Amino acid sequence: MGVSGQRRRVSLAQSIFRQSATRMPASSSNPGVPLSQTAAGRWRIPGIPNLHSHAFQRAMAGLAERQTHPQDSFWTWRETMYRFAARMDPESTHAVASQLYAEMLEAGYTSVCEFHYLHHAADGRPYADPAAMSRALIAAARDTGIRMTLLPVLYMTGGFDGRALSTRQQRFGHDVEGFLGLLQDLRSDEGALLRIGCAFHSLRAVPESAMREVLAALPAGAPLHIHIAEQIGEVQDCLSLRGARPVEWLQGNFEVDARWTLVHATHLTAAETTRLATSGATVAICPSTEANLGDGLFPLRAYLDAGGAWGIGSDSHISVSPVEELRWLEYGQRLATRQRNIAVGPGSSSVGETLLQGVLASARTATGQEGSGDYLMLDPQAPILAAARQHDVVDRWIFSGNRSVVEEVHVGGRQVVADGRHRDRDAIGTRYREVLARLLSD
Ligand SMILES: [Zn+2]
Repeated sequence: MGVSGQRRRVSLAQSIFRQSATRMPASSSNPGVPLSQTAAGRWRIPGIPNLHSHAFQRAMAGLAERQTHPQDSFWTWRETMYRFAARMDPESTHAVASQLYAEMLEAGYTSVCEFHYLHHAADGRPYADPAAMSRALIAAARDTGIRMTLLPVLYMTGGFDGRALSTRQQRFGHDVEGFLGLLQDLRSDEGALLRIGCAFHSLRAVPESAMREVLAALPAGAPLHIHIAEQIGEVQDCLSLRGARPVEWLQGNFEVDARWTLVHATHLTAAETTRLATSGATVAICPSTEANLGDGLFPLRAYLDAGGAWGIGSDSHISVSPVEELRWLEYGQRLATRQRNIAVGPGSSSVGETLLQGVLASARTATGQEGSGDYLMLDPQAPILAAARQHDVVDRWIFSGNRSVVEEVHVGGRQVVADGRHRDRDAIGTRYREVLARLLSD
């Protein structure tokens, strides 16, 4: 790029800086990156929250990458996912989630929002303990030491037209009364590292009246998540049956505020983007999954300019790495705009720091937890951190590839990863391999 191009870029960045500074609501004020260096020269940074997870899908990572149809899409992937989901039971769920959560911790995620909808047996009948699948996930979080916000999912209909669940969706389903009973039951398990929130699967899966009933019964402060506007087909269905786009409809009919986390929100108009950014809600962006499923690109720059809160999720777990999610969040924008250094804000001209500040700023409201005592120590011997200085550590961590430099991980003040290895990596891995062999046998 020539000198004049660089000048243009600087003036663009300055103008973005001014816009963001004036539009940023006080509640989103930038806390700065709490990065510190120990006497031994090690870099300490806060743990990263993972705002969106379907744990069982980790076991099918890499198993949906063969073309089954010339127009393969999210919807053909979903058929593969449903076939796989039908094989999961509490025992295999515990084994798969334990492996996943250990990998998350090693990668630097210290908390997970588990968006859980595999509630019942494969034929749709409740287990003897109707919360058995939830409890398998809770046990996996407890055993691995990750902080969890469990989001039991309400899933009632198979489309915006209110059609019944298909055979393969039966195990996801609840009526409102049964669902509220599940939430009530699970709340007795809450503790220092476990919060029970709630999720609506999507607008197509939960009728408006049921959303209102559940909202009226939710305790104040319980986090509420929903998939929304991930696919163009979903936007079109919502438009034709409800006369509005999904995010537009949600904001027009419900008081969307800081309690809400909207997962994906990929397809937004400019007006939706601005209104959502100023609502106090968080958007959970899942860049690696959204790329894998061909969803589309979130309008990050416009959303940041309007002061929106956001975080990341590994969702389908085709990647378990906060570094990769953050890097691809930025790279997607670069590829689409043919520019560089898109995600910068009023607190820093560093893309890495801006991204890290973003995921930390939304953590408490999106997870419903403070995250006290959750932090990572980076390996001071890692070549990519050689001669690192305070102002370049985060960029070097995020923009240097896939070799992990997370040496230690602490959750709630307890160390769970040492020398880059989860404390139970071997035992968890052995059990995972046994369970996968069983799950994948014909
Ligand atoms: Zn999801």
